[in-house]
Amino acid sequence: MTAGFNFLEQPELPAPQVTEAQAEHLLLKHYGINARAESLGSQQDKNFLVLDSDDRPFGVLKVANPAFTEVELAAQDAAAELIAEAEPTLRVAAPLLNLAGESCTAVTGLLDIATAHVRLLPYLPGGTLVGTGHLSPAVVAGMGDLAGRVSRALAGFHHPGLDRALQWDLRVGHDVVETLVSHAGDASHRERLTAAAAAAWARIAPLADELPRQAVHLDLTDANVVAAQAHDGIRRPDGIIDFGDLSDTWAVSELAIALSSVLSHPGATPTSILPGIRAFHAVRPLTAAEADVVWPLLVLRTAVLIVSGAQQAALDPDNAYVTDQSEDEWRMFEQATSVPIDVMTGAVRAELRLTETPTAVSGEPLIAGLDPTTITTLDLSPTSDAYDGAFQPGAWLPADVEDELARAAVRDGASLVVTKFGEPRLTRAPALSQDSPEVIPTGIALWPAETATVTAPWPGVVDRVGDELVLRGGHYELTVSGCDVTAAGDVEAGAPLASAAADRWIEIGIRPAGAPPAPAFTTAELAPGWLVLTRDPAPLLGLAASAPADQRDLLARRDDSFATVQEHYYRRPPQIERGWRHFLMSTSGRVYLDMVNNVAVLGHAHPRVADAASRQLRRLNTNSRFNYEAVVEYSERLTATLPDPLDTVFLVNSGSEASDLALRLAMAATGRRDVVAVREAYHGWTYGTDAVSTSTADNPNALTTRPDWVHAVESPNSFRGKYRGADVGRYADDAVRHVEELVAAGRPPAGFICEAVYGNAGGMALPDDYLQRVYAAVRASGGLAIADEVQVGFGRLGEWFWGFHQQNVVPDIVSVAKSTGNGYPLGAVITSRAVAEAFASQGYFFSSTGGSPLSCAIGLTVLDVLRDEDLQGNASRVGGHLKARLLALRDKHPIIGTVHGIGLYLGVEMIRDQDTLAPATHETAAICDRMLELGVVIQPTGDHQNILKTKPPLCIDVDGADFYVDALDRVLTEGW
Ligand code: PMP
Repeated sequence: MTAGFNFLEQPELPAPQVTEAQAEHLLLKHYGINARAESLGSQQDKNFLVLDSDDRPFGVLKVANPAFTEVELAAQDAAAELIAEAEPTLRVAAPLLNLAGESCTAVTGLLDIATAHVRLLPYLPGGTLVGTGHLSPAVVAGMGDLAGRVSRALAGFHHPGLDRALQWDLRVGHDVVETLVSHAGDASHRERLTAAAAAAWARIAPLADELPRQAVHLDLTDANVVAAQAHDGIRRPDGIIDFGDLSDTWAVSELAIALSSVLSHPGATPTSILPGIRAFHAVRPLTAAEADVVWPLLVLRTAVLIVSGAQQAALDPDNAYVTDQSEDEWRMFEQATSVPIDVMTGAVRAELRLTETPTAVSGEPLIAGLDPTTITTLDLSPTSDAYDGAFQPGAWLPADVEDELARAAVRDGASLVVTKFGEPRLTRAPALSQDSPEVIPTGIALWPAETATVTAPWPGVVDRVGDELVLRGGHYELTVSGCDVTAAGDVEAGAPLASAAADRWIEIGIRPAGAPPAPAFTTAELAPGWLVLTRDPAPLLGLAASAPADQRDLLARRDDSFATVQEHYYRRPPQIERGWRHFLMSTSGRVYLDMVNNVAVLGHAHPRVADAASRQLRRLNTNSRFNYEAVVEYSERLTATLPDPLDTVFLVNSGSEASDLALRLAMAATGRRDVVAVREAYHGWTYGTDAVSTSTADNPNALTTRPDWVHAVESPNSFRGKYRGADVGRYADDAVRHVEELVAAGRPPAGFICEAVYGNAGGMALPDDYLQRVYAAVRASGGLAIADEVQVGFGRLGEWFWGFHQQNVVPDIVSVAKSTGNGYPLGAVITSRAVAEAFASQGYFFSSTGGSPLSCAIGLTVLDVLRDEDLQGNASRVGGHLKARLLALRDKHPIIGTVHGIGLYLGVEMIRDQDTLAPATHETAAICDRMLELGVVIQPTGDHQNILKTKPPLCIDVDGADFYVDALDRVLTEGW
């Protein structure tokens, strides 16, 4: 018996009927506040938002359900104060005092309620997480952290008002579902609810005595936490409201209930809760028993919510709050029951590193008379060398690649070809998929060279379902499919079970007796759960069981040895070890669409480049002081792409080197030191190129630390810069004036350096005539015009091979890199003979590897492939389609301010406000994170890091472009 409220004795609790006028009267009478009260939704209490004369909310008036006693309310107020004190960085809605100095006002004569208990709570600004769309892993972790901190603060809290039995107390959850299920849905719904609750309870009951109890808020869901925007833009919850369910119960309920609400959000899957579990555990460590009941409790909670909501709707049909919730509640339940309970518990254990490595199976050989030394184990992981010849030009892996690789192994003498247990198989990964692909095998496949007999590893009973055989016996169940089953009923160890034909796969699975049947393949997220419920059959072939994956964190090793100022993309980046065309592949078998690699202009791992490099490395690699043909041929081919008088080539290794050399050439040719550059630009990391780089995204101090020879003119940013619309011509006026002022001051510039299309600002075109007018002014003073084509040149713009064509100018010096080597370090400077010769005043020019036979062989192949595959034409066609679709998206999502660029150099600029153009910097970072989850690699650029730099390999096709736009549309619709 409990002293406080007992749900099982009083299961019907309609919310008290109190009007807004009555609430306003209560506020005036008891709190001396003349304010407007606006009714809020609540299942069992009656709540009002209290608004000041400007209609700004400043409080919440709560009329407690009369079923709750004063001592229960006192416990809630004390708990709120305790948490506020223990966790000063949390915002807690503890009651404000009334005119009599009390936190709770007892009101008599309010409608039919004998004594109503009224409290006024401060309004916590920021909003709850309800209706905020998709919850990112960071926000889910924030919910887990908050629940952990509340749990820690309440650990020692005791109060007579905690002694109650609410329907939310999961100790009675199973009873609640049984009692109320009759209100819910139709018969099939009721059956599912009952079955799920029973299955969850079967896991919880045996551990009940091991679960620590304490005071628990019991309702820290998305609706009862308030989130303020943190400095990194993430809305992590830091405020707590509504202590109405506070009870003494299992401590771990706090976590299960908080995380259950994650599942109602769009895009959530069961494993979306894992960051929350990890965060809770970091604050308030879970015991092994608690880790094992978190998911069953969560499942139970979702069933309790549905049956309670259904009952409340029946009781209180006009309570719109109750009826509105039911769709979300079903979504939570569907997600919670989409995966077997034990699988999720396995995933939770793995997340907390509580998994014990299962013991390897042993038994009689699975294939009669086989010599293990003649077995070939096929490596189908993303890092396997087996794929080197398997990828198809212009396409993904062929459907029969596994068969072909097995046949090749048989031709090499294998008696049996075996795949690996638990290792991601790239062959199973679709090229374009928003969902995490099912690539991790929970068993192995065998490909016999000749007909083979599968024999029983242990005695048992054979069952046959279609062409699948199940052998039950001892601790395990063996499944064999894809062969002719010859046995039935009881069999001895070593007895023949089935006949496996040559030249086809048979699938073998082993699971502990009673475990749920595993799907043949699962996702990387669920694999830790399934792999503890399955066993590697390899030891039954005389092979070693596969070793558990290496747990050492690559990022930690990176930080230990690699300078951290060489940043990496993403907080938790996938490990990318393979690329093909416009795809990147992670070691966990996920294939990403690569929208960011402008360097791999032909696409990743282009076979012609690889062949050219390999051939040249076997033949000769030396420096350009030797006389060989490649350096000549490459120089000729480069100059052939350029107008007169750009006929002389220098070869270096990178864009920084190329632009640095371009600056030195200008200085040497003019005998001057000063250089004019545009703001918001990046030209490289060398001393010289860094000096002319003013992009604050690359160096926050850039503008204040320029050496005196650098003169930065206004950023010709026609979208958000100083001049817009009809005024953009004034950028050139200002730049020309700046040049003239330098001349007048006796410091005429050696040159003017500028990207021909403004890549660093998101790929926007410079204002019409900008380069013509600035080049003219610089040249009039005797200076030179340098076009940095490192990002935008080499066909990417589609319509033009070089960016300067867009501006109808011919520069004096062109620097280029990146695309030139398709990722191999190769940069070039192309200028006129006269300017090149002027370098002699500086000595001679030599770069050990610049222009090496290898670089030139690669450079020539890149030019060949660009031509042969018409990649510039593709940039124009696919780029045009992509831009049109992105522009259509802008009409749908106001966060897209504009789409810059042309061809396959596009920039999707994100803004918060159409009028102020306030950059949506944090949003862009979060959008990129979410895009990664949906299978797209995309990153921000620009001084405000608010532009999606959309510059994929030029081989991307319409399907790839559409996949990008569809994923972006989904993120902008569902939230991030
Ligand atoms: N110029 C521009 C316009 C660039 O974008 C970059 C690199 N982002 C460079 C020069 C420097 O090239 P690299 O990184 O090859 O040195």
